[in-house]
Amino acid sequence: MLTPIWSERLNRRDFIKSCIALASLGVTTLKGQEYGLIGRKEARYYRSMKDGKVQCQLCPHGCIVPKGRRGLCRVRENRDGRYFTLVYGNPCAVHLDPIEKKPLFHFLPGTTALSIATAGCNFSCKYCQNWEISQARPEDTVNIKTSPSEIVDLALRRRSLFKSHTIAYTYTEPSIFYEFMLDTARLAKKRGIRNIYHSNGFLREEPLKELCHYLDGANIDLKSFREEFYNDICGGSLKPVLNTLKTLRKQGVHLEVTNLVVPTLNDGDDEIRDLSRWIIDNLGSETPVHFSRFYPMYRLTQLTPTPVETLRRVVELAKGEGLKFVYMGNVPNNEFEDTYCPNCGRVLINRRGYQILSNRIKGGKCSYCGREIPGVWS
Ligand code: SF4
Repeated sequence: MLTPIWSERLNRRDFIKSCIALASLGVTTLKGQEYGLIGRKEARYYRSMKDGKVQCQLCPHGCIVPKGRRGLCRVRENRDGRYFTLVYGNPCAVHLDPIEKKPLFHFLPGTTALSIATAGCNFSCKYCQNWEISQARPEDTVNIKTSPSEIVDLALRRRSLFKSHTIAYTYTEPSIFYEFMLDTARLAKKRGIRNIYHSNGFLREEPLKELCHYLDGANIDLKSFREEFYNDICGGSLKPVLNTLKTLRKQGVHLEVTNLVVPTLNDGDDEIRDLSRWIIDNLGSETPVHFSRFYPMYRLTQLTPTPVETLRRVVELAKGEGLKFVYMGNVPNNEFEDTYCPNCGRVLINRRGYQILSNRIKGGKCSYCGREIPGVWS
């Protein structure tokens, strides 16, 4: 859950500085200077239609939007027949996180990522942890007025002190702030900062391919392997997400997958086997997969947290199908948070929560037997 931090006395530079200082002390969210601030930039992917309507071509929903109205994600608006993003340069969260929190376990372990999000989402997951910002309009959140270059400057200034080598587009669905993400990612790459994307994967192929030029890593939520779950629980659909996963793999972006295991809704043996086999067949058995614990949230408060026994069963099933790097998430100090060498079986990365206790991967290989370990290690 994200909590606002706010002071009217700070100017922008001081505010961002103080945000980072607070973040370094473990404060979880940073909020900006103006309540209801709305940025505006013409959208990159849309087409004009009759009567001043537009069709958004960013995500598979393909919203048809009359004049004066917004798309489903609440952050794109038709103004007199032109379509605009309303969140360009207006994040509602800016925060330094361990890269392990994204979660990315095979990407520069032990470093941090400057993580940004705006209001809005193209899904409406009934268990969303960040629903207060994801299901909000930008005028309902407290936003920072900033720009891609300020975000990149901030990341650069924190690079050595906080081992921050990366900007993460995360928390809500980054695809809905596509233009802001794309411009930031392009600039970051030019200036030696990496880019990672934690997404629901519900993005059309053309914008995704454009984004891939600048992406170094991605964690995609594969929320279920059943269309009904996507329709009933998330307000989306499965097939486009599978296409996104295949595209990211083909484009050479480092890829990890997360599945939030919701008791009774997506935790059946058959579904876990189907999901694991699909990953093996389409992305490869070396793809790191995180099975995370569900906690009752937002509109799914009638369920219990996922029993740890269920998560153990799910992890064992996925490993039994042949996945080589399977992790259990949202359960502190569990037995499946370390990285093991699939060849010699030794522990390569020893983790305690988000902390790295030891790392025996050298030059992308197991330092005991020399087996290559997939990931971005330097
Ligand atoms: S990005 Fe938003 S406006 Fe565009 S199609 Fe998706 S939900 Fe609709």
